[in-house]
Amino acid sequence: MQNRIQTYKQLTDSAPILCFSVDCDLRYTYVNPFFSKVHGVSLQEALGKTIEQVIGQEGFLSNLPRYKKALEGETIEYESFFTKRDGNPHYYRAVYTPIEYDGAIQGFTGIVIDITAEKELKRLSRTDPLTNLHNRRSFESNLAHLLKSNSESQHGLIFLDIDFFKAINDQFGHSVGDRALISIGELLKKNTQIRNNAYRIGGEEFAVIFPDIEDQNTLLEAAEHIRRTIETSTIIPERQLTASIGAALFKAGDERHTLLKRVDIALYQSKDSGRNQVCFI
Ligand code: GH3
Ligand code: MG
Ligand code: MG
Repeated sequence: MQNRIQTYKQLTDSAPILCFSVDCDLRYTYVNPFFSKVHGVSLQEALGKTIEQVIGQEGFLSNLPRYKKALEGETIEYESFFTKRDGNPHYYRAVYTPIEYDGAIQGFTGIVIDITAEKELKRLSRTDPLTNLHNRRSFESNLAHLLKSNSESQHGLIFLDIDFFKAINDQFGHSVGDRALISIGELLKKNTQIRNNAYRIGGEEFAVIFPDIEDQNTLLEAAEHIRRTIETSTIIPERQLTASIGAALFKAGDERHTLLKRVDIALYQSKDSGRNQVCFI
């Protein structure tokens, strides 16, 4: 028995994750060395202190409902984040497990794993580095999700392609072209309704998904608003920048390729009929 306890202690002492236990008053009865390192409190200092005293009021209050559930006998697993003092986010996954003996709950154990790198990697893999918009990978995955959702509500999609962009690069240089792409991204992000659904899907091509849109008119109004905003902006002071837009609504039975083909055709129609306009199919 003593050997086994020694082995378990060695495990928690060496684990690069936070391990702790608290009693029913939320006072620490154990913290491992990694916990001590992260919170700057030794085992001796932590013993008998409350969670609130060690991690601060903000973190304590936001987790209090979970602590209560664990003390009622429920195992709690969740992911959350907080903003560190240096302004960067810290993501973590936590598991609280009730400690039960002699037929009563005595407290709970907790383990907390830092998943910031995992989250950051996922965010980067879905972000376009130039504009900071979601990228093509994110577009494909969110589109697949919506196509699968079988919800009753109507969704819309637009493709936006900057007109004569190659000529802008040729005339003003690639870095001015880059700045124009960044400005288009900012312009899309400024619109709170589409901010989270705007994507850069190619060089000078953008997409916006409109989940739960009312009807065709609402989609066309939104697309027209974007077109007009670009047309009237002074993204490149010496030259008016315009974009052609293709729009379509999701149809029952649509698959990725049938929907994308409609939006593509709509975009080419708007290019063919003079650019700087919105076409719908
Ligand atoms: P259209 O009106 O028919 O859309 O013509 P276009 O010139 O906009 O289209 P085309 O497909 O001929 O050229 C797209 C250009 O976009 C060519 C490419 O060099 C440029 N491009 C693609 N990615 C980037 C980028 O990241 N930065 C810059 N500055 N240019 C880019
Ligand atoms: Mg293009
Ligand atoms: Mg173009």
